[in-house]
Amino acid sequence: MRIALLPGDDIGPEISAATRHVLDTADQAFALGLTFDEHEVGMASYRRIGTTLSPEVVEACVEADGVILGPGGMSAYPPVSEGGINIPGTIRKRLDLYANLRPSRHRPGVPLSREGLDVLIVRENTQGFYADRSLFEGYGEFRPTSETALSLRVITAEASRRIAKVAFEHARQRRGSVTMVGKRHVMQVTDGLFMAAVSEVAAAYPDVRLHEMDIDAMAADLYLRPAKFDVILTTNMFGDILSNEAAALAGGLGLAGALNVGDDHAAANAGHGSAPDIAGQGIANPASLIISSALLLAWWGDRTGNSAYSSAARAIESAVDTVIVDSGTRTRDLGGSATTDRFASEVAEAVVASR
Ligand code: ATP
Repeated sequence: MRIALLPGDDIGPEISAATRHVLDTADQAFALGLTFDEHEVGMASYRRIGTTLSPEVVEACVEADGVILGPGGMSAYPPVSEGGINIPGTIRKRLDLYANLRPSRHRPGVPLSREGLDVLIVRENTQGFYADRSLFEGYGEFRPTSETALSLRVITAEASRRIAKVAFEHARQRRGSVTMVGKRHVMQVTDGLFMAAVSEVAAAYPDVRLHEMDIDAMAADLYLRPAKFDVILTTNMFGDILSNEAAALAGGLGLAGALNVGDDHAAANAGHGSAPDIAGQGIANPASLIISSALLLAWWGDRTGNSAYSSAARAIESAVDTVIVDSGTRTRDLGGSATTDRFASEVAEAVVASR
């Protein structure tokens, strides 16, 4: 598998190096045949060539089998017209990564991690209130008068059907249940269309149970009864919010894995931002990017039928569990004292030990 690695800004290079260390170890232990091409992006790229993301790097991502993307420090970027390109957004669009997969589960030993939680949030990545504004020539949000602001919510049947298929396929490999989330009686036209399209797809998956829940009830129930849910399927903005709730219930954003997936490409992202406040100190938690990279390996294993990738992905996931149980090997954000490198070395050792 050829991986394009884009380290990103602030803590990005530190957690990318840690992730690379774990993947190199898994590569050897499971004879995967990984190759890495590292590409400079973000402010380092901007200072050198005047753009945070060059077209050559985007094309390298298209050519690669998979992408690993460290967090970008967007708030420090110059305007788009001066080279401050939104890295994940551009890659998502170019590779048509329409599904955002966010698994969250109970992590034994992690403070506040909720028992029974084991969900996969499947979030539509291209429409809703976060639709590509350029589709509407800048009119996704606008002010018809100085006293009024409007936002367009875009839902199409086709995009709803394709995200639904992703959710049902995953439910088949999990516990066979999909909960579609929206607010159909209020947003009758948009959620009405989304849910009708999901129900249409459901007919091809008689082995998967489909439930419907309002977003407000879901927010409460996920907190109160986390064990109730398996796959949660929803539109862009609701999915964004629920993913962070689920990550918090699992023990924090530092453990949130995220994979953006399309029909032919996938990109692993950290679930958190670039944390400029702790950059360069060697204390960032690399677990989120490591877990996301394991999701990327699992995706490649499914796609190619190469079970070594699926085994490596499982080994990395459980190695993270093994290491975070001990506060001596946890990073500071999880109440521990380990450095980024120490955590990664411990995870790498646990991967080897699992063979
Ligand atoms: P963005 O807007 O880019 O999503 P943000 O401003 O919401 O980012 P983060 O960059 O995620 O926030 O940081 C929020 C807080 O969490 C900061 O105090 C940061 O240090 C901490 N944090 C984020 N990621 C990590 C990590 N991997 N390890 C340790 N602490 C982290």
